[in-house]
Amino acid sequence: MSTDTSLDSSLDPTLGASQGEVSALGVAPLTELRYPALGPADPVPVYRPYLGAEVQEAARSALEAGWLGMGKLSQDFELGLESFLGLGPSGRRAVSTNSCTEALHLAGQLIGLGPGDEVIAPSFTYVAGHQAMSRTGASVVFADIEDRRLCLDPQRVREAITENTKAILAVDYLGLPCQLDELLEIASEHGLRVIEDAAHAFGTVSAGRPVGSFGDITCFSFGPVKTITTLEGGAIITSDPADVQTLHELRHLGIDADTDARYKNQRNWEFDVVRQGFRCHLGSVPAGIGLAQLALVDEFITNRREYCKAYDAAFADLAEAGHLQLFDTDWEGVAPYIYVIRVRDAVRRADLIAHLKAKGIGSGIHFLGAHEFSFYADSRRGPLPVTDLATSQVLTLPLHPYMDSATIDRVVDGVRTFFQ
Ligand SMILES: *Cc1c(COP(=O)(O)O)cnc(C)c1O
Repeated sequence: MSTDTSLDSSLDPTLGASQGEVSALGVAPLTELRYPALGPADPVPVYRPYLGAEVQEAARSALEAGWLGMGKLSQDFELGLESFLGLGPSGRRAVSTNSCTEALHLAGQLIGLGPGDEVIAPSFTYVAGHQAMSRTGASVVFADIEDRRLCLDPQRVREAITENTKAILAVDYLGLPCQLDELLEIASEHGLRVIEDAAHAFGTVSAGRPVGSFGDITCFSFGPVKTITTLEGGAIITSDPADVQTLHELRHLGIDADTDARYKNQRNWEFDVVRQGFRCHLGSVPAGIGLAQLALVDEFITNRREYCKAYDAAFADLAEAGHLQLFDTDWEGVAPYIYVIRVRDAVRRADLIAHLKAKGIGSGIHFLGAHEFSFYADSRRGPLPVTDLATSQVLTLPLHPYMDSATIDRVVDGVRTFFQ
């Protein structure tokens, strides 16, 4: 595996390693498990969000405060995001929402997407992104991904641009950073906006810069299974200070002067409605949960990264033998959301899924190609050979914020026994 110098964690103070015991595989330093280890007969789910004592205490205390709507905790969570992402020097700001889908939709509204406009997007992503764009009335245009990271291929984006193109939707697949600099350059050449769907990349550092701290518009997800969760939630990050006011209005029914009062757990009874708005703010209880998750996120990320390295080491010979393809990364600076292997052929993948299932090991497929969905059947597209290959190969294995070595060994053994 090559060392990727574009992924450099050394400049990010938030991503220090927390060392713990070494797993049976000899690779993964495990921090103290904050929830009980799975038993040897327990199913191993693909996701296992951490909802332990600190999180429950945060929820209880937010409930006890009795202010349920958008409030002081919502603002505190935004400030916490800005600090974690190192937004200070850039002047970029975070606006919380009740999901990443809504954050993406607000991004589309913010840049004025509407009927007749085109957004170039990978087909290979979660349909939330496509739905958020098409909800504005704009059309989604599918461009292919590159084979190495399965992120949007800048060359294919160039080929898809027409006079109707208004934006590029870029996705950081599984937490690896997409080629954002190239996409930003294309965008500036053609007067386009770039909406980065960083639902998978909360905490990833790309060439010394945390994802979200640079670029145009960045959206994060704090959904049930994401790297941190507010149960449901998201955030949108923008550079222009004027965007913050617009987003506050878009987020809350087009009301112009409401956020400041609510951030003090108060209500403002005098206001104007200045635009078509939506209702997708983050309430106080989810925000409180998000703050508790943020306090643990360094630990989650360090663990997830070490588990990915352990998986890679355990599967290296299978990759060498041509059974699997692993991602070309050393994981430095990456905050992995999911761990994905590529199985060489689709039939074997289906058999491997069944083999794992019989052993109680969950797996998933991220993603199906959206160009295959009926709703997007008529969407304009370039050739999608890498997308078609990737959708037939990818397989997501269990990755949790805390995994004991026996659980990692069970997953490894499940995969290895299939190929031996
Ligand atoms: C999870 C996810 C979303 C949607 O996030 P929600 O917060 O559930 O709306 C969008 N894009 C990608 C790539 C995702 O994985």
